Amino acid sequence: MGVDDRRPFPADDVECELCQAARFTHWYAETDDGWIADCEVCSVPMVVWWHHGTQPGTEVRRELLTELERVADRRFGPGNWELDTTMRQVPTHFHAHARDRDWWRLRFARPLSRYTGVGGDRATTGDPPELGWSAGDRDDREQDRG
Ligand SMILES: [Zn+2]
Ligand SMILES: [Zn+2]
Repeated sequence: MGVDDRRPFPADDVECELCQAARFTHWYAETDDGWIADCEVCSVPMVVWWHHGTQPGTEVRRELLTELERVADRRFGPGNWELDTTMRQVPTHFHAHARDRDWWRLRFARPLSRYTGVGGDRATTGDPPELGWSAGDRDDREQDRG
């Protein structure tokens, strides 16, 4: 299957999850600098640099974050999300999340999106489970963020 390895150039680090750039969730966009897809852990848009490393150049970083902003504004609406550039799960590879206010409360309730090609409508795996539980404690969010 060529679908999962259509990178513009070979992965810098084949062991790195973000270098692998597997296409499972919805991909919003793909540029010369990187790609934006739903984070499998958080179910929110995440921009990832094509290259392995923490320091894209200033220009590349700006373009990546601008692209993420465009995607997040479309998904959540302007002003309804915040940029999170802290790299927790893969601290060695530049990526950033766009988190809406409800991401933590709904992270398990939101059905995971699935890959249907780059761009287009965001398709999910099915209906979300019943929301019978309470919002939970936001204090522990720093520990589990993906
Ligand atoms: Zn990497
Ligand atoms: Zn995440």
